[in-house]
Amino acid sequence: MSLKYKRVLLKLSGEALSGDQGHGLDDDIIESICDAIKVVHDEGLEIAIVVGGGNFWRGRSSKIDRATSDSMGMLGTTINALRLQASLEAKGIQTRVQTAIDMKQVAEPYIRRRAIRHIEKGRIVIFAAGTGLPYFSTDTTAALRAVEINADVILAGKRGTDGIYDSDPNKNKNAIKYDKLTYIDILNKGLGIMDATATSLCMENNMGLVVFGIDDPKNIIRVSHGENIGTIVE
Ligand code: UDP
Repeated sequence: MSLKYKRVLLKLSGEALSGDQGHGLDDDIIESICDAIKVVHDEGLEIAIVVGGGNFWRGRSSKIDRATSDSMGMLGTTINALRLQASLEAKGIQTRVQTAIDMKQVAEPYIRRRAIRHIEKGRIVIFAAGTGLPYFSTDTTAALRAVEINADVILAGKRGTDGIYDSDPNKNKNAIKYDKLTYIDILNKGLGIMDATATSLCMENNMGLVVFGIDDPKNIIRVSHGENIGTIVE
């Protein structure tokens, strides 16, 4: 089966990197995710990655203000980005980490045209530190970067699910999975798969999304080949 897309924005939640422990980093899971990424990269897929940070910190605490808390969250995404970079490079893939908060000693700053150039040269660019702004999410970052780099689609790998359901399948055994949805459906039905900022950014810019389960990392290969394994949002 051949690739369905030329350029994708792969969104990995922080929890995708933490395995069953739910926090921190799981070396084996990261290896399998990077193995799957290598397969489609070797096939010629242009890949950028936005990684979340929920495995370290999700910015809410009554003890500290939201902006500080969100800054901590953004730093968490950078730890994940560097970890992914290490594994991908060990597999012989050239990568660059670009951060939305300057940390020039460890990674490049985010420069859109430079990111596109890296991607054209076959490098995988990992976008870290979210948008660089508090009160936003890495889903919004994924939507923003996907539009900025002109990706064909966002491939969003989620832990513990294999797509979008009408209710939480972990709580309701009769939950129904959607094969296809529109962004308006997500907003109207209040489906909590992506926040409203990310949803409307995708909608306004006609950016497609496929939500798929990352518990089996080989799904990255399946979804890149257009296999109907998750939920398509248009
Ligand atoms: N964050 C932020 N601005 C951004 C992106 C992320 O402030 O543009 C912070 C926010 O606190 C968020 C945390 O970083 O909770 C981790 O990101 P997210 O929760 O989106 O990660 P994921 O759920 O994908 O692991």
